[in-house]
Amino acid sequence: MITSTTRATHGIGKPFERTVVERRDVGEHDVLIDIAFAGICHSDIHSARDEWGFHPTFPFVPGHEIAGTVRSVGAAVSRWTVGDRVGVGCFVDSCRECDPCVAGQEQFCVESPVFTYGAVGTDGLPTHGGYSDTIVVDEQYVVGIPDSLPLDAAAPLLCAGITMYSPLRHWQAGPGTKVAIVGLGGLGHVGVKLAVAMGAEVTVLSQSLAKRDDSLRMGAVDHRATADPSTFDDLARSFDLIISTLSTGVDLGSYLGTLRLDGTMVNVGLPEEPFVVPPFALTGGRVSLAGSNIGGIRETQEMLDFCGEHGITADIELIDADGIDEAYERVLASEVRYRVVIDASTIT
Ligand code: NAP
Ligand code: ZN
Ligand code: ZN
Repeated sequence: MITSTTRATHGIGKPFERTVVERRDVGEHDVLIDIAFAGICHSDIHSARDEWGFHPTFPFVPGHEIAGTVRSVGAAVSRWTVGDRVGVGCFVDSCRECDPCVAGQEQFCVESPVFTYGAVGTDGLPTHGGYSDTIVVDEQYVVGIPDSLPLDAAAPLLCAGITMYSPLRHWQAGPGTKVAIVGLGGLGHVGVKLAVAMGAEVTVLSQSLAKRDDSLRMGAVDHRATADPSTFDDLARSFDLIISTLSTGVDLGSYLGTLRLDGTMVNVGLPEEPFVVPPFALTGGRVSLAGSNIGGIRETQEMLDFCGEHGITADIELIDADGIDEAYERVLASEVRYRVVIDASTIT
């Protein structure tokens, strides 16, 4: 066993504390990564507070937006060498045999991927995430971070980036398509940058106008306040594609009304409470309501390469490891501009 120093919570709602955990020794197919930075995803908060009913085991070490460098590799590792700049996202293994796994869609593994935290690994140990100084991961579940991207601002791409890139590609955002991004948070702001780089015309639907200047700076053509009911009248039947990152359950009826005939609203947000979907909102424009879940390893690498070519990273607030509890409150208040990233060198 090797040990990692982490920041863990020891109960629902309990503060994060310095905690030493055990990870498996570096096996022949494994990579030992020195974590440099770890993003704080809203899913970390949902999970740590058991808002999804998955009942975390403690100590609980979240973090699935991991960027770092390879410290050592197992004897059979061929993809990575010591010093490589690498990332780890939301899962660290999968069955590798089911149809989705074979198709490179490991996020939909029929046996469930082994999530980076809060799961049990193939080694039988609880998985611990990126709020940690090191992590051991099978080489096939590691991706490369382009040299042109700084590791701190690239870390959030490992979840926020791929979660937005995958549906934008799947529903073919590009020149001639009008895309709305709902919620300018960690996912949403990266989604705006990606959709703009793909050539789509992007509008941000946010609770207020407070983030309007940022939306326009990131390349959106418009930013509207959803708290203003006239927004939904003005935008009726406007969009080909809506990607919603809402972290709270709301009535989706007004959003669905902004879709053009045959448009699609893709939900990626995972609130604790259900959404309300009025039937007439679906039938009216023959619209579709869909969902999307992170992305596979191949597509994650494709996304990182795309970000490298287009110079896309997250807008980050760098904190040290003692600031995690405060950061969680700021995420919940939608105050963060736009992703909190932990400097892992402060996890000592
Ligand atoms: P985040 O940084 O907190 O952003 C969520 C945004 O939603 C906020 O910035 C805010 O944007 C908006 N919002 C929050 N509360 C709202 C309310 N009451 N009414 C209307 N809008 C509200 O969170 P995130 O890290 O981007 O994650 C967003 C959601 O996606 C979470 O539920 C997370 O668990 C989920 N997620 C899903 C996947 C997947 O694969 N499907 C992957 C990662 C995360 P404005 O201030 O602009 O309104
Ligand atoms: Zn995430
Ligand atoms: Zn599988």
